[in-house]
Amino acid sequence: MVFQSDRVGQIPPYLFAEINKKKEAMIQTGIDVIDLGIGDPDLPTPNHIVEKLIAEMQHPLNFKYPSFIGHEEFRKSVADYYEREYKVKLDPKTEVLALIGSKEGIGHLIPALIDPGDVVLIPDPSYPVYRMATHLASGESYSMLLKEENNFEPEFDSIPKDILTRSKLMFLNYPGNPTAATVDLKHFERAVSFAKENQIPIAHDSAYNMVTFDGYKAPSILQAEGAKEIAVEFGSLSKTYNMTGWRIGYVVGNKDIIKSLAVLKSNMDTGQFTPIQLAAAHALNSDQSCVSKHNQIYKERMEAMIAGLASIGIKVDPPKGSFFIWAPVPEGFTSTEFATSVLEQTGVIITPGNAFGSGGEGYFRVSLSVPTERLYEAIDRIKQKLKIKIS
Ligand SMILES: *Cc1c(COP(=O)(O)O)cnc(C)c1O
Repeated sequence: MVFQSDRVGQIPPYLFAEINKKKEAMIQTGIDVIDLGIGDPDLPTPNHIVEKLIAEMQHPLNFKYPSFIGHEEFRKSVADYYEREYKVKLDPKTEVLALIGSKEGIGHLIPALIDPGDVVLIPDPSYPVYRMATHLASGESYSMLLKEENNFEPEFDSIPKDILTRSKLMFLNYPGNPTAATVDLKHFERAVSFAKENQIPIAHDSAYNMVTFDGYKAPSILQAEGAKEIAVEFGSLSKTYNMTGWRIGYVVGNKDIIKSLAVLKSNMDTGQFTPIQLAAAHALNSDQSCVSKHNQIYKERMEAMIAGLASIGIKVDPPKGSFFIWAPVPEGFTSTEFATSVLEQTGVIITPGNAFGSGGEGYFRVSLSVPTERLYEAIDRIKQKLKIKIS
């Protein structure tokens, strides 16, 4: 007896679980493992946000079931934030929906928009949730290959007509995970006009919208002319304010798409705890200097790691967004072989690119979620202990 649906049974073994098993075994034998695999900030949530949570916890009314679509104050704070950051006006009642983390909303959007057999256009490589949630909704994934020579932007015109006619949703994600690619507004304008021509809704995942460097400001897809007719944008407090464990995010944009998601969600969950929503509203409404402070730390780490990689012969252009470095593996190795050698010989965890789809083969991802000294240590170990020659 197997207590499992075919859909769940068909999910391939998680590469990260495999890596984790090795990590645990190495820690058991006393090895000091440096984990550059996880995309989870090591920095704490800023204090003013924590204080607000504690204050809201003192009000018993906040312990009741929250509103299905999100607390009014949270939705309004998101709308204000869009007006301030992007000059985009949103109706907090119909064009903003609170989520239990953006992953929850992304996962639920798919069954809210597609029926079995429908196609979802998914960047490859990308965040694995798009593909897995499509599979769980009995949909079909179509890989839009992201090539370095195209700045990791999909070639919309190369998607076959018969795929387009069956497509009910397209994902985009900039600054990108894992590629760290960033785009300008023109990219979103092209995407929106392509989506309108083909009547395919766009879901833009902007988890790293505020994690940017060197004066670069990531655009919102909603700044593109007419975007609200066809697009939604997912946002998250997780990466901007180091709140991954709090589980709070939002989706904004096209009200019909948002309504479909809200209908599905109201039958599956009952929203995030009110004090968390109010603390998140406070984060969005308050002084944003904590964000530039975090970005400065990531930039410092980024520079250290890029110099370190260059010193072992791996060249990468410095990214303008996200806290990842997406680097080519040395010649003669697959992504898995390289990541495995690095882990076994040096105790440093990096993520093989193919963990994000076959389009990630030939690359590895470094997450900058450890202090600079640990990054130096990682590079030193790779220099001294890795038995392969990188040229
Ligand atoms: C971290 C991440 C998310 C998930 O964010 P949550 O709001 O914590 O669920 C979504 N998309 C990408 C690309 C991410 O890296």
